[in-house]
Amino acid sequence: MTLLEGRIALVTGGARGIGLAIATMFVEQGARVVLADLDGAAAGRAAEELGDGRALGTRCDVTAEDDVRDAVGAAVERFGRLDVMVNNAGVTRDATMRKMTLDDFRAVLDIHVTGTWLGTRAAGAVMREQGSGSIINISSIAGKVGNFGQTNYSAAKAGIVGMTKAAAKELARSGVRVNAIQPGLIRTAMTEAMPQQAWDAKMAEIPMARAGEPSEVASVATFLACDMSSYMTGAVLEVTGGRYM
Ligand code: NAD
Repeated sequence: MTLLEGRIALVTGGARGIGLAIATMFVEQGARVVLADLDGAAAGRAAEELGDGRALGTRCDVTAEDDVRDAVGAAVERFGRLDVMVNNAGVTRDATMRKMTLDDFRAVLDIHVTGTWLGTRAAGAVMREQGSGSIINISSIAGKVGNFGQTNYSAAKAGIVGMTKAAAKELARSGVRVNAIQPGLIRTAMTEAMPQQAWDAKMAEIPMARAGEPSEVASVATFLACDMSSYMTGAVLEVTGGRYM
């Protein structure tokens, strides 16, 4: 049995890391996927590797209204519909407030909050017409507890939670579900860039005593994407190995 047979999905930030792991698992489960990433060339290569007509890579800056509209349009044009939208694209620009610039603050808010809003709005419009769909927003455990040196990122990831719940209420009657995932420490380029000391400090807080793999976020995204979660909307699922439970 495949969980997403015939479904069409779009994953922002899908060229690598958690987004690519989600896209890969979706394809394994029978979906066709659009990878929309700021790095269009990497998205194209990743789509090719996912194989033969099952994936399309496209350049998209999630902070640009036209780019997001075009990415959703590409999914509908190429594959005929849009069943699953994953708002995953993200960056960090860490610094304590002593050093963080307003640009660093605004850039992170823009990518996570505005980007997720644009993706939710564009996908929601298509899904509302279809009468079905699942939108999955990638928040972070930082949005629950707040992280030292991440006032921008923590605010953005908490913002995604509020937005997820508000959008879930607006779209529920149209058969569209909106849920969020809060990953903890997951092994990707984003976290491998972290100083060893910061990595060790995070590890010490994890009851399961290990970092998570991108595939362990992807399996939860697959659950939210498919009909096994058909009565769930506005939910926030933590994927943290028990950290900050
Ligand atoms: P990553 O850096 O490996 O991948 C992020 C991808 O997003 C890249 O391909 C990048 O090109 C793309 N991207 C960046 N800005 C973009 C923009 N404006 N428009 C479109 N694409 C853009 O990061 P990751 O670790 O895979 O993180 C994916 C998501 O998971 C992010 O939202 C991140 O905040 C969240 N997250 C990650 C962790 C972790 O531990 N890795 C934990 C919690 C939440």
